[in-house]
Amino acid sequence: MLLRFISSNQFKVHALLLPFYLLATIDLFLVLNFNSRLTAAYVFIALTNYKEASDFVATYWRPVALVLSLFALCYGLGLAGLYKRRFYKSRALALLSACTLLLGYGAYFYKTATLNGLGQGAVLDLAAKDQSTPFGYLSQIGLTTYLHAQSQEHISKRRTAQVNIISQTNEPNVDTLVFVIGESSRPHNWSLYGYHNPTTPNLDRQKGVFRLDNVCTTSPYTSVAVPSMLSLSPISNWDLIASSQSLVGIYRKAGYDTHWLSVQEVDSFGGIIPHIAAEAQHRHYFERSYDHAMLPAYEKILLDGGTRKQAIFIHIKGSHFDYARRYPDNFRKFQPATNSAKDQITADYDNTILYTDWILNSLITQLQASKRSALLVYASDHGENILDDHRGLLGHGIGNEYDLAVSSFIWASDNLPAPLNLRLAKLKDRADQPISISSLPHTLLGITGVLTNDYNSAHDLMSDTFIPSTCPYLLGSGYVPSFQFSIRPAAKASGQLVHQAD
Ligand SMILES: [Zn+2]
Repeated sequence: MLLRFISSNQFKVHALLLPFYLLATIDLFLVLNFNSRLTAAYVFIALTNYKEASDFVATYWRPVALVLSLFALCYGLGLAGLYKRRFYKSRALALLSACTLLLGYGAYFYKTATLNGLGQGAVLDLAAKDQSTPFGYLSQIGLTTYLHAQSQEHISKRRTAQVNIISQTNEPNVDTLVFVIGESSRPHNWSLYGYHNPTTPNLDRQKGVFRLDNVCTTSPYTSVAVPSMLSLSPISNWDLIASSQSLVGIYRKAGYDTHWLSVQEVDSFGGIIPHIAAEAQHRHYFERSYDHAMLPAYEKILLDGGTRKQAIFIHIKGSHFDYARRYPDNFRKFQPATNSAKDQITADYDNTILYTDWILNSLITQLQASKRSALLVYASDHGENILDDHRGLLGHGIGNEYDLAVSSFIWASDNLPAPLNLRLAKLKDRADQPISISSLPHTLLGITGVLTNDYNSAHDLMSDTFIPSTCPYLLGSGYVPSFQFSIRPAAKASGQLVHQAD
């Protein structure tokens, strides 16, 4: 309203407003596709994880192109209509709308300031809540800059963060610990969890696998889920996750040989995953390769292990979009039943699971061959939507039963010391309980007897005091305290996997 009276040359005004119109288009796109506004959190994720952003474009280029061409058409016609037309100008009306705006924002600011006190918080809250079109984008951009500065502060804090180990077992224990971080892999498409296609034939018959049917992620984004699944801090405290040392640093401090093997690109734009990797003594990157590129390095690590304890972290590419590019030709086993996009995508996705099954089985087979007592934990960072229903959703970052559910299991070698086997048996009770990926680091520290102040037995799957998770998660729009979903055993028996979202 205020803008309307700034100048009588409306053509100039609207031409200058082009960036805002573009932002409004993106906003509208997010509302229609994701039911979410263009908030600072979204912009931040795009900036800190440009890989995720480029995947987004790859996934959604068709609707994006459609929206953009519609926008260009409307905007062009609108501007042409305004060209050389003059509108009346009124100082009084301009002043009146300026006062209304000031009064509105002032009232809101007064409300938050009286509730939370006058300070940085009240200003930030006003900026976060201001999602008006088009000028709300300015405050969202300001907020993004603030979030970026905060992330830099987290990174410098974690560099100097101390790890305090309060006790460590002297008893015989696990020689080699392997933590495999999967990518976009949901349980719905694993035969291990009841899927009708035999996508995990090796794991289905592998002895020593403890299946976990009800595992949820802490966020449907890689850049949040991976740090969280390696941290002892809850997802409700992102600042602490981002600014303290991870499980990698804890095992290094405990005297383990620590390795980080990654088939995912190093993100030079930020995000804290490379900083977690930097906590390991040895890092190996295999960029733009299939996941099996890391197998020879892994085998060498096991061979060179000697008498030292090892903690090996492996970040695979798993079922990352574009699915057809994730597996070699000899894993093209599942063919689409029809030419529909859904059938083609499902077949490609199933083949990525088949390949992941082979990768995980190779890691286990090499552990067995090494004769070391060993534990392997696998969990995907988040799940994935693959055009499942009438919503036609593809990818992750949405926060529903498909991208919040993850595939996860624990495998143990048959030569673990007897007391550890007793603890492992508890995992059978956990098979159908809701578990968050943030429980995994507590569980590993518990069984390997490396305890820090932040270890919490309520999150340790192998402790008697474990409490099932309410599956809290972090989404672009903020913290969500719980998510209810379950894989019904009856549905599993009939070979169909059903997730219920309440
Ligand atoms: Zn991911």
